[in-house]
Amino acid sequence: MIFGAHHPNQNFSKVKVFKFGGASISTPERMQNTASIIHRFQGEKLMIVISAMGKTTNALEAVTHAFVAGKTQEALQLFEQIKQQHLDILKYLNLIHWQEAEYQLKDLFTEIEWLLHDKPVRHFDYYYDQIVSCGELYSTAIMAQLIKEKNTKLKWLDVRDFLRTDNNFRDAGIDWSFTAQRLHEVVVPLFDSCDILITQGFIGATDENESTTLGREGSDFSAAIFANLLNGESVTIWKDVEAVMSADPRKYPEAVIIPSLSFTEVIEMAYYGAQVIHPKTIKPLQNKNIPLMVKSFIDPDLPGTLISAKSNKNLPPIIVKKEQQVLVQFRSKDFSFVEDRPAQHLQDLYRSIKTKPNISQHTAISLLCCFDDHPEKIDALAMEASALFDVAMEKNLTLLTIRHFDPQTLQQLTAGKTILLEQRTTETVQLVMR
Ligand code: ASP
Ligand code: MG
Repeated sequence: MIFGAHHPNQNFSKVKVFKFGGASISTPERMQNTASIIHRFQGEKLMIVISAMGKTTNALEAVTHAFVAGKTQEALQLFEQIKQQHLDILKYLNLIHWQEAEYQLKDLFTEIEWLLHDKPVRHFDYYYDQIVSCGELYSTAIMAQLIKEKNTKLKWLDVRDFLRTDNNFRDAGIDWSFTAQRLHEVVVPLFDSCDILITQGFIGATDENESTTLGREGSDFSAAIFANLLNGESVTIWKDVEAVMSADPRKYPEAVIIPSLSFTEVIEMAYYGAQVIHPKTIKPLQNKNIPLMVKSFIDPDLPGTLISAKSNKNLPPIIVKKEQQVLVQFRSKDFSFVEDRPAQHLQDLYRSIKTKPNISQHTAISLLCCFDDHPEKIDALAMEASALFDVAMEKNLTLLTIRHFDPQTLQQLTAGKTILLEQRTTETVQLVMR
């Protein structure tokens, strides 16, 4: 039994959760394409999570910056462009009941316009979430209308009615038990009369009805939350790639498709910086053993990648490259690095400037650390640390990680490079290279 004892129909099929990202709805054609993918699953119970259209989230970030800087006119102008884009797309879709969606959009626009006419009095992150969360509301309003015209048993849901978070704006934490309870009270019964529920990824709300966001690219995570709490059959993330690849094919033509991966492998890949899926997505699925499919919305007949509890013993070398790395050497001034205090001091520094090395290595009298090169942070770090250490740094380096490496791949990728730092375990090699 899936939904607890209240459900009248014992044969009720399990819910499939789909997530469509911004690229899958960036043009009217892509919206139509997404609707036709959904149409293939007629008769099934679908919970569909959608991101903001194309680059809307970035555009809303710009609105927020202008507003908080007190540039009301600029904020309103930027917002006007976003409104127009959505209204235009709606027009190009040629819907019969386009007016319903237009009313809904205009209502939603008004919320933000009111806010933009106020003076900012609270902190940036609060306004960020109130403004940026709208992208998902607009995109889903349009998509719901589009899909409704092919399948009437559909309902649009404002996720803020059931996804409860704390008020850690821009990186809100989930209130799992409240969200579970609301889902079962208000969402699950809707499946009695609906096949498709369509809602927003990336956003939630506090107990005071303030909008929150879960961190950039957080829609994958939203899909995993719903799958976990609804005991879903599976999650499918529809992307503009064929499947998960062993490397970025634009940089490494030998990259191959990986047909299956274990949850643990994906967590490892994300840890080393592979941009496959939002890192928070895996745990909620792994805990309930719910498989995750990564599939192409361009060619939905391709098999894609299946991520599950089952481990794949035949993995190719998986390559993760991070460019724009800076290697910092901290050398203790009195040649006594081996004690805890200077190391502790560095840890405190990392915390205070919100950075962390991607990899680090001790020698007798120094510590080598490789960071993403955010110049403001790195300069602050070097400044502060120079009280205790002699600090030297080198920029423009590459951090290469190879999981399941073999000698050929290693040789090919390091040929002609100078290796400044290297770490190996049986499964993984990491190199900082010039
Ligand atoms: N629209 C949000 C972003 O661009 C969330 C997402 O796409 O997952 O970050
Ligand atoms: Mg996205």
